[in-house]
Amino acid sequence: MASGADTEYVIGIDLGTTNTCAAVVVDGEVHVIPDEAGETLQASLVAFLEDGTVVVGNGAKKEAVTDPVHTIASAKRLIGQAWGGAEIKAAREHLPYKLVKGPNQAPLIDIRGRKFAVPEISGMVLRRMKDIASRYLGQPVTKAVITVPANFNDTQRQMTRLAGELAGLEVLRIINEPTAAALAYGYGRDVRARLAIYDFGGGTFDITLLDVRHNVFEVLSTSGDSYLGGDDFDNRLAQYMLRGFEKQYGFQIDHDPVVRGRLKQVGEKIKRQLSKKERAIVNVRDLAVAPDGRHCDLRFQVDRAGVHRRFQDIVQRTFLVCDDALTHGHMRADEVQGVVLVGGSTRMPLVREMVQGYFGQPPLTDINPDEVVAVGAAIQGAALVTDPFSPAGAHQPLLLDVTPRSLGVQVVSGYYDVLIGRNAAIPCEQTRVFATSQDNQQVVRLQIFQGESRIASENVKLGEIELFNLRPMPRGMVEIEVTFAIDADGIVDVTAKDRETGVAQQTRVRVTAGFSDEAVQVMRRRSQ
Ligand code: AMP
Repeated sequence: MASGADTEYVIGIDLGTTNTCAAVVVDGEVHVIPDEAGETLQASLVAFLEDGTVVVGNGAKKEAVTDPVHTIASAKRLIGQAWGGAEIKAAREHLPYKLVKGPNQAPLIDIRGRKFAVPEISGMVLRRMKDIASRYLGQPVTKAVITVPANFNDTQRQMTRLAGELAGLEVLRIINEPTAAALAYGYGRDVRARLAIYDFGGGTFDITLLDVRHNVFEVLSTSGDSYLGGDDFDNRLAQYMLRGFEKQYGFQIDHDPVVRGRLKQVGEKIKRQLSKKERAIVNVRDLAVAPDGRHCDLRFQVDRAGVHRRFQDIVQRTFLVCDDALTHGHMRADEVQGVVLVGGSTRMPLVREMVQGYFGQPPLTDINPDEVVAVGAAIQGAALVTDPFSPAGAHQPLLLDVTPRSLGVQVVSGYYDVLIGRNAAIPCEQTRVFATSQDNQQVVRLQIFQGESRIASENVKLGEIELFNLRPMPRGMVEIEVTFAIDADGIVDVTAKDRETGVAQQTRVRVTAGFSDEAVQVMRRRSQ
């Protein structure tokens, strides 16, 4: 594509678990960017071949099947996660590649004898998008807006930002996926409506309610379930096939992880086929060997109605999350004026029907659910570099987002004291005073969490802040004013000052699952 060499382009990137998509605004029009083969979606895959070559994107799809041990998939599930957390535990059980514990609770991916931090892998996917965009625009692209799930915590956001930097991108803004989807739908169309963004992906479900007034996008509330997604349908179908097999052959095979993995893959394929047609054929060759040595295949026909009946309760679970978001947004389902669909699972007719039933109106399907987030990110990107005094700039979108989780500190006996509540509008800040509890105490440590549990340790630990070099005084006499701020990217920043002297208090922040400055330097050098 030809373009003006002096134009400054900002690409919008939807960095997904399964696929990544980029878009850009050129002369006021959004283009979803195709690669050399004309594909607008790139698989979020990085394959490390035996000869040292690294293949990123759709080119790595073959390796993902033939050599999953050396092909990194689903890095987004791992980004910003701490070693001891549930996500990493699940990943170690399910993902075929090897994870090892790195410094500061950060997981590392051990591949062909080299260890990579997760942001490095995501950085490779982002670099691929940067290259595709540069080729498309005929000039190097250096600026980007990257989207993240609304419920990403501070560490996940910081690590996504780092991934962008490692890809050689200046990340102008991190925005939430649902907000981007709303922008794609509502920007420049003089929409005045309350929208629900129903985002049903592979592993997660998110619902966000927004109030759109001209170009002001105000998030009213957001809620999600990070263990509810397309995978649940696949597992349900795998179970169904297992039972079918056992009925037919009279012996059990559900203890075999290879069988389970294969059936899940078949389940995913069948599920997709049933989004398009009424019937599909399950055909698995050589699924297991019977005790008498016979090789057993599995073959039968399924129909959409029968399978979808088995899926209803899974879709129903999304509405519990919607109920929660509506409660927090002080709204009823029938007050929603448009439902925007995002994510691969919303292609299922069952999902569309049930969404229509819940909200009492057909969902909006005119924007491709795989591209809608990237489109919104591109719109935001263009707005960030438009001169606010130009006529175009006068219509800049204003994003009023909220923080999806409460932010707080641990207090005595392990309780959790909330400083900034869930669904508070961002950017925002909150100040608290902490006093020394011992004479001549030189250091105060604060443990920071995000989450809703009253017990601090049941929330996600973001890190520790150390206030050090305190004035030597009797206990309680040194009072430190600590300000916790959440910026427009949803990233937490902490500053502190001595209340009496007004002098800025030195702080040291150790981010859980984060990296030291030195480690980041090493990653920067390696990414060149
Ligand atoms: P996403 O995370 O948005 O890329 O969504 C990925 C999920 O969407 C996976 O669980 C896919 O199996 C599912 N998916 C993609 N296309 C379809 C389809 N046509 N019908 C049903 N599910 C689909």
